[in-house]
Amino acid sequence: MFEFNEKISLAAGAAMERIRPKFAEIEKIEDKTQGRVLQAFISNCVQSSHFAETTGYGYGDVGRENLDALCADIYGGEDALIRHSFACGTATIAAGLHGILRPGDTLLVVSGTPYDTLHPVLGLRKSAGSLADFGVKYAQTELTSQGDFDYPAIKAALARYSPKVVYLQRSRGYTLRAAITIAQIEKLADFVHKNSSAAVFADNCYGEFTEELEPCHVGADIVAGSLIKNAGGGVARCGGYLAGRRDLIELCAVRMSCAGLGRKVGASLGNNRELFLSLFHAPHVTAQALKSAVFAATLFEDLGYEVLPRPEEKRSDIVQAIKLGGREKLIAFCQAIQSASPVDSLYAPVPGPMPGYDSEIIMATGAFTSGSSIELSADAPLREPYAVWLQGGLNFVSAKLAVTHAAQAVGENIA
Ligand SMILES: *Cc1c(COP(=O)(O)O)cnc(C)c1O
Repeated sequence: MFEFNEKISLAAGAAMERIRPKFAEIEKIEDKTQGRVLQAFISNCVQSSHFAETTGYGYGDVGRENLDALCADIYGGEDALIRHSFACGTATIAAGLHGILRPGDTLLVVSGTPYDTLHPVLGLRKSAGSLADFGVKYAQTELTSQGDFDYPAIKAALARYSPKVVYLQRSRGYTLRAAITIAQIEKLADFVHKNSSAAVFADNCYGEFTEELEPCHVGADIVAGSLIKNAGGGVARCGGYLAGRRDLIELCAVRMSCAGLGRKVGASLGNNRELFLSLFHAPHVTAQALKSAVFAATLFEDLGYEVLPRPEEKRSDIVQAIKLGGREKLIAFCQAIQSASPVDSLYAPVPGPMPGYDSEIIMATGAFTSGSSIELSADAPLREPYAVWLQGGLNFVSAKLAVTHAAQAVGENIA
């Protein structure tokens, strides 16, 4: 399967040469992020006794308490909550927003339309239990055509709505905009704090460990993310985290369980070891995913496709879009990625309808953890410009083989 034709072999070899300086940059970031994580393990005195299981109420789970402190340290927060019991990234972000916001408050989103699964949470789509359902108001400003925050619009919105929370989505998600960088977040946080008393909330999904620092290191008040993306290092089987200001994390903790009990309850059921291991692996695995994305960008650009971001561009998430330009190529790409996966390689994904989407979707995910997108995965809506979004890669070599296999499959396809 991994015997490639001459054209593809040469292109893959040339891509590896071209991306050497970029790989050196990624490794420099990994030095910092992995170093910060290892230092945090040592500073927080992680011990094998923290892996012990609790059941029932989970009172006095010292491993869980240590995990929270460790997670806070890694993300530059005063405090954190990291739990297998957060159902997914969306549920973690929702716990954070519902924790902080009260009826009559306004949430101001400053990065344009948010990620699809958050629309019902925010009330952009009428849904029982949305923030809108609880009387939280919503306002939004767009990103500029350069992909920066629209400061005049934000200034006007701060004055007009006095929002309690200013929210940004770091990753491009499944759009064709660029990710928002840590430098941009630093400037935004400073601006918001100078002009209002709002808390800055960053959706950090897909962004963790792609740069040396995280949003709370540069002024964001709280971040949230999913453990089946970067933050779980390919180890965690589910869960999410929130990290940031102590007063805000306390509010999230009572939303996570209930008033009065907050973070004092929540049996770890033997998951602590896995969560420690996932935090430990996250910087390295994210670097592997970044290398996989850069390789895919380079190979496909060299083969004549438009790619976003371009190989040399600065990255602040692990997502790679490739405009394949045709329905058949898109299907060939996703089927090739799936067929070169370690799990479920025998199944071929086909386009199908998905709730909440107006076109058919095709997804390749041959993952150890269902739906994991820190493992190599690809998703695409079957519509113009027939772009595929590729992300993840637990280890670079296997991702490189899968991406090269996909390039050959797309090339053999006459769309
Ligand atoms: C994945 C993602 C989410 C939601 O996470 P789930 O685990 O899929 O619920 C939110 N925001 C962004 C930017 C994401 O990439």
